[in-house]
Amino acid sequence: MAINLSNSNLGTRENRIGSITGYIGSLKDLAEKSECGTLKGCSRCFSQSSSCLSSCALNQLAGIRDVAIIHHGPVGCSVAGASAYYMSKVMSKKRGVTSNTVYVGTDMNENDTIFGSTQALRDIIIEVNKRYSPKAIFVSSSCATGIIGEDIDSIVDDVRDEVGVPIVAVHCEGFKSRIWATGFDISDHAVLQEIVQPPREGIKSNKINFKNFFESARPEIIEIFKNFDLEPVFLYCNSTIEELSHLSESLATTCICGTLGNYLGNGLEEKYGVPYVRSINQCGIVGFETWLREIGKVTGRSEKIEKYIEEQRAIYLPQIEEIKKELKGLTAVLGMGPGYTFEVSRVLNELGITVKWALAWHYDKKYENGDVPPSMKYLLENDIDFEASVADQQNYEVMNILNRYKPDMYLSRHPGSTVWAIKNGTPAIYVADEYMIFGYKHTLEFAKTILDAVKNRSFEENLAKRSHLPYTDWWYQQDVDKFLEEAK
Ligand code: SF4
Repeated sequence: MAINLSNSNLGTRENRIGSITGYIGSLKDLAEKSECGTLKGCSRCFSQSSSCLSSCALNQLAGIRDVAIIHHGPVGCSVAGASAYYMSKVMSKKRGVTSNTVYVGTDMNENDTIFGSTQALRDIIIEVNKRYSPKAIFVSSSCATGIIGEDIDSIVDDVRDEVGVPIVAVHCEGFKSRIWATGFDISDHAVLQEIVQPPREGIKSNKINFKNFFESARPEIIEIFKNFDLEPVFLYCNSTIEELSHLSESLATTCICGTLGNYLGNGLEEKYGVPYVRSINQCGIVGFETWLREIGKVTGRSEKIEKYIEEQRAIYLPQIEEIKKELKGLTAVLGMGPGYTFEVSRVLNELGITVKWALAWHYDKKYENGDVPPSMKYLLENDIDFEASVADQQNYEVMNILNRYKPDMYLSRHPGSTVWAIKNGTPAIYVADEYMIFGYKHTLEFAKTILDAVKNRSFEENLAKRSHLPYTDWWYQQDVDKFLEEAK
């Protein structure tokens, strides 16, 4: 689908790429229906937990150094400022840099929702610019401004010359999408629209754009890429506006998770011809090698990459093979965002662990370029199948599934989900860090973590004995497949 940067408002994932939040069946069925275009999402009559897309979008933007986020909405919406503070202050401190990013809520009140508050917004933008001298300003909408039709774009256009720094409207009305990951696309759209500039003449770059969340493996990846004469530019956590303005000059774009990086990667490719590395992600051995080889192909560094792979294989493969003997035959259920669910399923398969059920918090049946996500394609092509469902973090369904399959472990990237599994007596592995299964070294560590979790189950057993869960036997006997059918 063509990316339209002339409009600040971006279609939702549901509308643009047919993403869904409701499905129960098998992985094969999900992928086949995605490929032939017959996949239809189901809705539930009850949503236990989800989150507003503005948190995703504005957290991403707040990771950029020295910018201002102006969240135009009621004070409740600005609760996203708490995690934005984390992205800006804590992450910059961790890296040893300074960020003067500010997050300002406009505190819309009842009068504003009746009479509008464009004048107040205008005044706030001018004041924020004067007080904090940001390098760029992102002006976000909210449900309230969307409902009353507040014309944020006109205000932004109106003050553009006066503020003298890049300024862009970010359309974050939470009601427009049930998929919080739409927020990732919204932040990318804003960056592509206003911050990224056309490549400068005569610049020869060896940079590779690397979209990730918290850049925890930054030093390690910089060292790895030195072997290939490549310099990664990590986005957006701790990025500067200057760095972002030159993304169009890089040799390629890659990301840690397709759900996170797909829009930016495709946008840079479509607008500036920067190749987007389309492969399964770096989790596990197969993933890491496939990803590296694709980078080699795109940047003309295949020889150097093959040499690196050979050296690393000799160090790590014997150790991983040894642990695999102990993991063989274990079973798992997992619940994560769709990017990780199907990547981690592949790694578990690689380690000899059987996936009983995989839940994805949403599912993108096609990416921006019209292809089925590579992680799904890989599982299909390698004849890997298991029961799968799409549910926007419905933990009550997770509990039902855990009770039915009694797996050896539950894996999730969301702590609120792992807590329930542990109270249920299931060993849970919180795959918090995005680089927890990255490459040879971390795949080995991941395998050891699994072994630790399943070998010593006393914590889960003791906690389960002392926990009174709200779920009744009646609920555990329900068939979640039927539950969704009824809610269709
Ligand atoms: S934008 Fe809408 S969904 Fe998001 S926090 Fe505000 S009111 Fe809630």
